[in-house]
Amino acid sequence: MISMHTHSDLTSVKGIGIKKKSALARLGIFSLRDMLFHYPRGYADKSKRRSVHEVEDGEVVTVSGRVKSVQSSRTTQGKVMTRFHMLDGMMPFELLFFNAAYLEKQHSPGEVLYAFGQARRSGRQLTLIHPEIFRESDQLESQLVITPQYPLTEGITQRDMATLIRHALTTELPQLEETLPAALLAKYGMPGLGAALEELHFPTDRTRYKAAKYRLVFEELWSLQLNLALLRVDAKRGQGIAFKTKGVLEAFQEKLTFRLTVDQQQAVQDIYNDMSKAQVMYRLLQGDVGSGKTAVAFAAMTLAVHNDYQSVLMAPTELLAAQHYEALLKLYPHEIERIALLTSSSKHKKKLREGISSGAYRWIIGTHALLEEEVVFDRLGLVITDEQHRFGVRQRNRLEEKGVSPDVLIMTATPIPRTLSLVLYGDVDVSVIKVLPVGRKPIETVYVPRKQFQRLCKSVDQRIEAGRQVYVVCPLVEESEMGSELQSAEALYGELRGGVFRHRRVGLVHGKMKSSEKNQVMKAFAIGELDLLVSTTVIEVGINVPNATVMIIMDCDRFGLSQLHQLRGRVGRGEHASSCYLVAEQPGQVAKQRIKKMVETQDGFEIADCDLKLRGPGEFFGTRQHGLPPLKLADLSRHLDILTVCQQEVLNILQKEASGQLTQMEKALLIRRRQEAFERFSI
Ligand code: ADP
Ligand code: MG
Repeated sequence: MISMHTHSDLTSVKGIGIKKKSALARLGIFSLRDMLFHYPRGYADKSKRRSVHEVEDGEVVTVSGRVKSVQSSRTTQGKVMTRFHMLDGMMPFELLFFNAAYLEKQHSPGEVLYAFGQARRSGRQLTLIHPEIFRESDQLESQLVITPQYPLTEGITQRDMATLIRHALTTELPQLEETLPAALLAKYGMPGLGAALEELHFPTDRTRYKAAKYRLVFEELWSLQLNLALLRVDAKRGQGIAFKTKGVLEAFQEKLTFRLTVDQQQAVQDIYNDMSKAQVMYRLLQGDVGSGKTAVAFAAMTLAVHNDYQSVLMAPTELLAAQHYEALLKLYPHEIERIALLTSSSKHKKKLREGISSGAYRWIIGTHALLEEEVVFDRLGLVITDEQHRFGVRQRNRLEEKGVSPDVLIMTATPIPRTLSLVLYGDVDVSVIKVLPVGRKPIETVYVPRKQFQRLCKSVDQRIEAGRQVYVVCPLVEESEMGSELQSAEALYGELRGGVFRHRRVGLVHGKMKSSEKNQVMKAFAIGELDLLVSTTVIEVGINVPNATVMIIMDCDRFGLSQLHQLRGRVGRGEHASSCYLVAEQPGQVAKQRIKKMVETQDGFEIADCDLKLRGPGEFFGTRQHGLPPLKLADLSRHLDILTVCQQEVLNILQKEASGQLTQMEKALLIRRRQEAFERFSI
């Protein structure tokens, strides 16, 4: 959704001070205008009172009862905690407030209170933390019946949100510009932006609510498609280089120590076909982790270099780039003078750049550093990006623009269901590697309850004794997470190093380390100087250490399915049998399904489909992963029909533009969209 830059300050709203303002910033809310686009995650019906015994953990409910006692005490962190002991008939429950000691004076035993909020249940104990409370006399019915429930952050209550939204609707709506062409609104009977937002925040009736939601979903999908279409226009440049392929593949295969699998051969065949045509190649290579995409990339590079062009392979991390560099050098040792590795930590960067611009280097491997303006190529014929989802679309384009019209290959290990790849990549050609190289042993995948972790460590230690290496991955944990029992990588590192693995070489990497430090540790692991590596998900991408055969994933319920699959793909890359242990304390329903799927299958596509079903693509294709705007309301798996309509409408408007038939408003809209597409899609 578009957030225009207005400066109506949040603190102009009564009750919102500096503290709340910075809490709101954590939710991405910086102005009243942003408030409008902070959508409810659901709606609750306050008027329906529930009996305490039937309320489940996590439900947002109204309960009522008689106050038995009210007490305030101080927590260890110095907060004042006020606790109401309540009775609903015979059923006890509690209301809990922080820094609200005044409540003790306002309420006294015997009084009947209604409390509305999210319930926490632990066994028979039911607690509402910071509920809204009403006296009987407050007349519950006079409260809004359907109440939006907003995503919150510490320090912001539903009541704050409601106040802010009301305020935003009054002050911001009148100046809000329409963001969809009038013709579209009319054609599909959609309400205007303002009306739709108002209805979404405070629904008045079912039909109107549905229309409002349709419009907002439509807009998200339409914008997504339009952004992508606008970016793709550039990619479709006609004339390319017609590479000569004769004998190249055979010579390449000669150099390899293994035979290409059937799928690899097919992919190379596709690529050579494209490259031999005088049209620009734009191909996506999908292949599960460990399926051997690198070899295919090298085959493509070989063709370009054989034709006396330069070829570039861009990787998302330094480690990965270095790994590709080593592999290429092994393949073509006599080419050492013509292979460059350019990353931000490369020494002699200037010399490297000179060699690249003079054409002395033909094989160029690197990271983002390749995108810098100073990097100029001599005869760039082929651009490959590895693990492409790590780069924004805009970044890829930047590299592609450095050649005259180089062929383009993008590689990804995230298997993308066909429908979605159409949305994301439009009509690019796709090659898929499905079969893994022969001799891969299946990775034994086991769920391990947290309480058996120590025992697991002991058995893993025997693998280390036998010379193997081990990954232990922890989820990212925000320090602010209250009462979290999750283990941070750092804490676990301390525990393991001082405990079961005290006689082993244990390393730690996490996202907060400097990249040079990170590289150092990863490198030590890669060359076998560490037995065990504790890390956050920074190791997720591409790293290849065939001697590592054990992957332990802590608090595995905190990871998405595709992510678990990616992590598991770090092992099972060598001759020794590998294992993946999924450790969790008390996985919930969905987490259990994910674990089950992981244990059942190693097929990346099956896993991707399941992931899509379990999570919805809003997250599957989150901004972070793909450089796409987040979908807040739209769900690619459920709204395919709207998506199809939008696809058509995007084509229509672009055609209208081409034939000069746009209205003034549509023109302005496209200008803004273009700008936004380019800003959004760069990281
Ligand atoms: P990914 O597709 O995840 O990038 P890699 O290209 O890193 O996978 O390949 C994983 C491992 O498989 C590497 O060690 C590579 O040398 C090996 N490999 C690739 N193709 C084959 C093959 N056809 N036969 C045997 N091993 C292969
Ligand atoms: Mg790879």
